[in-house]
Parts: sequence; structure tokens; C-alpha cells
Amino acid sequence: MTRVIIIGAGGVGTVVAHKVAQNAETFTDIMLASRTKSKCDAIAAQIKNVKIQTAQVDADDVEQLVRLFESFRPDICINVALPYQDLTIMEACLKAGVNYLDTANYEPLDEAKYQYSWQWAYHDRFKEAGLTAVLGCGFDPGVTSIFTAYAAKHHFDEMHYLDIVDCNGGDHHKAFATNFNPEINIREITQKGKYYHEGEWIETEPQEIHRPLHYPGIGVRESYLLYHEELESLVKHFPTIRRARFWMTFGEEYLKYLEVIQNIGMASIEPINYNGQEIVPIQFLKAVLPNPQELGENYTGETSIGCRIRGVKDGKERTYYIWNNCSHQAAYRETGTQGVSYTTGVPATTGALMLAKGIWGGAGVFNVEQFDPDPFLEEVARQGLPWHESFDIDIEFEK
Ligand code: NDP
Repeated sequence: MTRVIIIGAGGVGTVVAHKVAQNAETFTDIMLASRTKSKCDAIAAQIKNVKIQTAQVDADDVEQLVRLFESFRPDICINVALPYQDLTIMEACLKAGVNYLDTANYEPLDEAKYQYSWQWAYHDRFKEAGLTAVLGCGFDPGVTSIFTAYAAKHHFDEMHYLDIVDCNGGDHHKAFATNFNPEINIREITQKGKYYHEGEWIETEPQEIHRPLHYPGIGVRESYLLYHEELESLVKHFPTIRRARFWMTFGEEYLKYLEVIQNIGMASIEPINYNGQEIVPIQFLKAVLPNPQELGENYTGETSIGCRIRGVKDGKERTYYIWNNCSHQAAYRETGTQGVSYTTGVPATTGALMLAKGIWGGAGVFNVEQFDPDPFLEEVARQGLPWHESFDIDIEFEK
């Protein structure tokens, strides 16, 4: 008997709505709320087995959120709006007594800067309120963090080197498109790269470090080192890690488009005046690029995301690889969205199931790797993201 509210009706919100509805024996009352109510209604209409209530809400406005929470009385809020809304939604959860879960850390609108400090600062207030806030329960962050916790629990006495590897081996047959919100995606990729080494953060130019990596079921793909938010919490929670890096694949053509977009100023987050109206170039760009939600139909191929870890077990060096492959077509057949939204929405739903069943909990603000990884990984496989592991793999590149 859990009442759940989903905020955000984009690609990820669509998957969460489908998956929550598939678990209607746990989530007995479901509401989908977002800035544009018609999008919520369209998603609710696709789901036949249960009735999903819908509502309009501006999640930048704490008072509006509180009013909505007080009328629906959710136990859990799954925040799959944009990272800009994290703090207002957390604030409203505190005021209305609602547990919180998201998939991306807070980012100020006027500054492309990802760090957990803003959300970690809420720990004492959630603790005093007796509420749980779960941060970063998508795939990366999310499953990758839980894979790391699982490795630490079962396979290592000490983990030393962590490489998170994210490959989209799919083809959407468009000249240029991003797989999730273009504004968030381009902000992330055009940032300087950064990785953790022996207690320090080493900064790189964007896409400066890259190398060909092999992905199971996909093959070799050029992979680029970039900063990703889970690195910050993982090195904090697993202090034996000496080096932590994040790699993502990009095609040559994608990077060429990105370079042009940047060179002509379209990736800028600085507002400009156009014909008397203030516009933000990257927001305008988002409006003309393909909608990530509509890529699914012709998307072929798979994603492959996992963790490659080197460390020590029983005095011996060990290497370990744990990963999931997800087919874009299978995701589309089930939920009408492509694999990137699917691999985010399924873990968010699984995290909410962990909270609803009392398997995860505790008062305060937590990153997902702080919880028991076993029940989550068992459940996420059942919910549509089976995972695989392999030992003593050739991870020469990590040295
Ligand atoms: P979309 O842009 O497709 O959807 C975002 C939704 O949030 C839209 O429905 C949008 O409304 C709504 N929204 C935006 N601002 C507000 C507001 N002020 N009030 C209410 N609703 C609002 O994004 P995605 O679905 O692709 O991504 C959702 C989240 O998932 C993002 O935070 C993203 O960073 C995260 N993510 C995490 C991943 C992970 O692995 N951890 C991977 C991919 C994404 P409208 O329709 O009106 O624009």
C-alpha cells in the first residue's frame, strides 16, 4: 500500500510510469505530475492495467509542490524532472513529509557544475524529519554505484582501481540527436574532464583522454574520459579506491557536430537578447533537436554499461567486470522509449520498490551505494535489466 508521485513526464518519466504500474500490487496509488499536464495525460493513456492520476505542477515552486503533496499524500516522490528541480522538490518533501528519490544530482541553472554538496547538506533535516532521500538511482549514477557496492561486498577486500564504462552501441538513424535531455547532455559532455587519483582530482580538457575499449556484445568503441557525478560519492564511500574514472563512447560524427555547436556558440548557457527577447542558446538548440523520446521507434543496437574493478581479495590481485546490456528495441516494445530512458527509469522504480518494501530506508540523505546492493540487484534484473559478471578479465588499459 504505497502511494507514489512521479515528477517529470519526459523519457525517463514515461518508463517510470510504466514500471510503477507493472508493480501495482506495491504501488497502489500513482500520480504523474509535470510542467505540461498533457504529456502526463498521454503517458497515463498508454497504461491500461491501472489508473494513473495526473497533475500540472511547476517543480521550481516549493509551495505548489507542497499543495500537490498535501492533496495526494504520497509516501514516495520519484523525481525524474531535471536536475535544476532537485532542491525545490527535496524542500517540498521535507515540508509535506514525503520520502524522496532522484536520478541526477542538483545542478544550478546558471552554472554547469555537478556536486553532491548541495543535496548532502539536507542530511540532518531529513534525519530529523525521519524521512529517507535516495540520491542518484538511475543507471549511472545508480546501478553503476550499486555494482561497485556489490563488488566491495562480495569480491574484494580492497578495491583500488575503478573504471565505469558506458557504451551506447545503438543507432537512432538521425544525423545528430542526444539520448536524453539535450541541454543536460551537452552541458555534461562539453565540461572539462576530471578523474580521481591518489586523493586528488585531475582535470583534463573535454574529450582529451580517449582510447578504444571492448564492450561485450558490441565490440570495440572509442571511449572518452569525462567527469560523472557518481565518482564523487564512490571515492567518499569506498576510500580504498586509488583511481576512479568514467568513460563514455561517442562516434566521430557526434563529436564533429558537438564541436560545431560549441564553436558557433549554440552550447552556451549565457542568455542573449534576440529581437528584444532573452533566449539561452542551448535551450533554443534543445527546441530544434530531435526529441529524445521520439528516437525509440527506429533505434537499433544495445547499450552496455558497467564497472571494471581491480583490487585485492585474500591477498591476491583480482580483476572484475560487472555490466548490463540493454536493447533499444526491447525497451521500445515494452515502454515506447529507447534504452537510455529505460536504463534510467527501471532502476528508479526498483529503488522506489526497495523503499516501499522497507528493504532500504533510514532517516537522512543517502547515495545508493550506502544501501545493501543484493536485494536491489536481484530486483532490477527481474524488472528488466539483467546483469553479468566476469573475473580476471584483461583490463590492461586501467594500468
Ligand atoms: P526530459 O527532458 O525528457 O524530461 C524532463 C521532464 O521534466 C519533462 O517532462 C519536463 O516538462 C519536466 N520538467 C522540467 N522542468 C520542470 C518544472 N520546473 N516543473 C515540472 N516539471 C518540469 O528528461 P529525461 O526524461 O531524459 O531525464 C529526466 C532526468 O533523468 C534528468 O534529471 C536526467 O538528468 C536524468 N537522467 C539520469 C540518468 C542516469 O543514468 N542516472 C540517465 C539519463 C537521464 P516539459 O515536458 O514541460 O518540458
